[in-house]
Amino acid sequence: MLKTFVFKFGGASIKDVNSIKNLSKILYNRLRNHTVIVISAMGKTTNALEGILEKKFNKEDYSSNITILENYHLEICMGLFGENHPIHAIVKNYFLQLQRDLELPLSKDNYDLYYDSIISYGELVATRIVQEYLCLEKIYCIWKDAREIIVTNSDYRFAKVDWNATAAKIKKSLVPLLEKFPVVTQGFIGKDKVGNTTTLGREGSDFTAAIIASSLHSASVTIWKDVEGVLNADPKRFPNTIKFDELDYHEAAELTYYGASVIHPKTIKPLANLSIPLYVKSFIDPSSPGTKIHHVKHENKTPCIVVKDEQILVSFKVTDFTFIHEGHIHQIYSELEKLKLRVNLLQTSAISISLVIDKQVFKLEKLIDSLKQDFEIRYNESLQLITVKNHNPEIMENLMKNKEILMEQVTRSTFQIVTKSN
Ligand code: ASP
Ligand code: MG
Repeated sequence: MLKTFVFKFGGASIKDVNSIKNLSKILYNRLRNHTVIVISAMGKTTNALEGILEKKFNKEDYSSNITILENYHLEICMGLFGENHPIHAIVKNYFLQLQRDLELPLSKDNYDLYYDSIISYGELVATRIVQEYLCLEKIYCIWKDAREIIVTNSDYRFAKVDWNATAAKIKKSLVPLLEKFPVVTQGFIGKDKVGNTTTLGREGSDFTAAIIASSLHSASVTIWKDVEGVLNADPKRFPNTIKFDELDYHEAAELTYYGASVIHPKTIKPLANLSIPLYVKSFIDPSSPGTKIHHVKHENKTPCIVVKDEQILVSFKVTDFTFIHEGHIHQIYSELEKLKLRVNLLQTSAISISLVIDKQVFKLEKLIDSLKQDFEIRYNESLQLITVKNHNPEIMENLMKNKEILMEQVTRSTFQIVTKSN
């Protein structure tokens, strides 16, 4: 089997001219032939596209938003390629197509399908620009549309991968390319069996890297980030963070489950199953070792703090003078399952069930609609879920200081609170 490597670069690593030049330097020094380079959308493009979609949905004028986004990409092209390069026409063409797609009618019923068709432009245009630039810098590589290799079901916005079909496509149409050249492709996007574009959930490019690596049985995956590796807390929120030199797959997976945004939660499992090491490295300081995620025998005792924003606390109270029983929990969970909503924290009492979920468009509304007959439902939005793994009294006290705590849960290893964001 071909010995392959997968590199993944996220939005921050290609956000402007200098970042892309830096990326090409990183690749120039390390690129081996059989490498897949997975790239997501530039900078905050995905958020900008979500903004355009929201305006479209609310029947507001979004034309200036498109112009801003297009100019952002064209200016980067100008900085990388100068004036006379076919990339300008290619980028303009993508934006024309985007505009055309946005002329189709959008409603609540087709929102998720529509979302995927629009949001994927960020990745498509970014990968074209980067691939052209790498070639200009004599790092010859091929551009591949990820939708030709990542096969998913039709759960738009949260599509599930069809692993067998994907592995077959990768074998058939990626391996022959990789035998000759490195390949640049998009993270986050795929295609379902009826031919519609799908996405794997926000920040899903890491997961794409893992899917490809697992299908190829790659030698390693490297995710290039703006931090020095996996830290025990987000350095933007907490001082004195500690970087892990290595971390066990389980430990890393658990941290991502609680919301550690350094790696997408689904990334670890496919790699762990095949013992493919995952390196998290800094694109700012590429020669520093970063973090290696693999099978580690000794247990980690370092406290880790993970903060998840935009949380909603919903409580369901029984109204018929009975107590909470399995039937109630089952009923609520089936609705959550239908809506593909994950419970981040759960607490039950004699007469109520409280749970914490992520904020997602329309979903709270739908959840309430489906359950309001049987429960009295209340909710609080814009909350923070803070999880501490390997907690100690000092950390707990510091975290709770001056905060309004709406929910609290402590186990031997994990401490979690839900608070109002400040
Ligand atoms: N561009 C997508 C997002 O921002 C996917 C990714 O960055 O991994 O969510
Ligand atoms: Mg991104």
